[in-house]
Amino acid sequence: MHNLRNLDIEDLRALCRKEKEPSYRAAQIADWLYRKDARDFSDLKNLPAGFLDKLRSNFSVSSLAPAKDLRSKDGSRKFLFKTNDGHFLETVFIPSRSRGTVCLSTQLGCKMKCVFCASGKGPFIRNLSVAELLDQLSLARRSAGKPVTNVVFMGMGEPLDNVHNLFKAIRIIHAPWGYNLGSRRITVSTFGFTPGLRQFVKEKNIPPVRLSLSLHSPDPVKREKLMPAARHFSLDDIFPLLRKYHELGKREITLEYLTIAGVNDSDSDAEGVARIARFLKAKVNLIPFNAVEKCKYHPPSVDEMEKFSRGLETRGVRTTIRRSAGSDIHAACGQLRLKG
Ligand code: SAH
Repeated sequence: MHNLRNLDIEDLRALCRKEKEPSYRAAQIADWLYRKDARDFSDLKNLPAGFLDKLRSNFSVSSLAPAKDLRSKDGSRKFLFKTNDGHFLETVFIPSRSRGTVCLSTQLGCKMKCVFCASGKGPFIRNLSVAELLDQLSLARRSAGKPVTNVVFMGMGEPLDNVHNLFKAIRIIHAPWGYNLGSRRITVSTFGFTPGLRQFVKEKNIPPVRLSLSLHSPDPVKREKLMPAARHFSLDDIFPLLRKYHELGKREITLEYLTIAGVNDSDSDAEGVARIARFLKAKVNLIPFNAVEKCKYHPPSVDEMEKFSRGLETRGVRTTIRRSAGSDIHAACGQLRLKG
């Protein structure tokens, strides 16, 4: 059955026209779906009964059912949701003093199979629909207990391998009739999937959201060892696209850098990363490696992280270290998988 949350305001208007309902009903439905996070038709209160019955026989409101809700000592939450076709996915809520960030999954499984990441360990199943992307946000908002101020597409999957649904979801998250979040508060993180990146940079119909590249090594050979699928997508193709995105007057690029002790945290690595960051006018976000089953790597110590960070800063690169949230409930970066 179709899900109402796959529809944007134009789709809803077209639906109203088809059903001979006045077009302001589209705004009413959007209000219930995207502002009030409706879960059921009984939540859609101000619609005439006849129209509601028609909607009920053709559409569903929820595409995900809550299955588990884990709370970390550090305040973050991991939600396990079940799709209508019986698969599980994970969504994380990370509160901080000034923000509430929801980390959305974009695919069931991931094709990229990075050696350090749990999400690629199982099979790739399918892309998530627009409704499933947005339902993660609506369900997280309903349970977070704090306002959601930021959305990051950094959960399971490669967002730019699901551009069609990603773009529509971004439009709805940004729209004033939708979730109404500013473009600076929305971040897409990519492994460097060039076909999708090309479409992303070209796309005129999405707001200028933030873009992060998962770099993880300045050296293509080493990067391909960590991220085997990277051999299909050369950094030489990725960098010009990132520069173009930046130059289009859009946003500063972030380079995410997974720091693995003794693997990619030497001073010459810092030199390489700094060269790339300066070329892209990018800032760097260091992520300490989080333990993943069957993965032999180790996280660096706090001192080692800081040393690497100083190595970048002294070379003129703005660098932050990501606080790793939720590792006690396996909700941290790289720990999301198909089963909770
Ligand atoms: N596919 C996208 C988004 C999902 S991964 C991407 O690659 O960017 C989100 C971030 O978590 C990426 O930077 C990813 O490399 C990082 N990550 C994956 N496994 C990790 C681990 N074990 N520890 C820390 N970060 C990890």
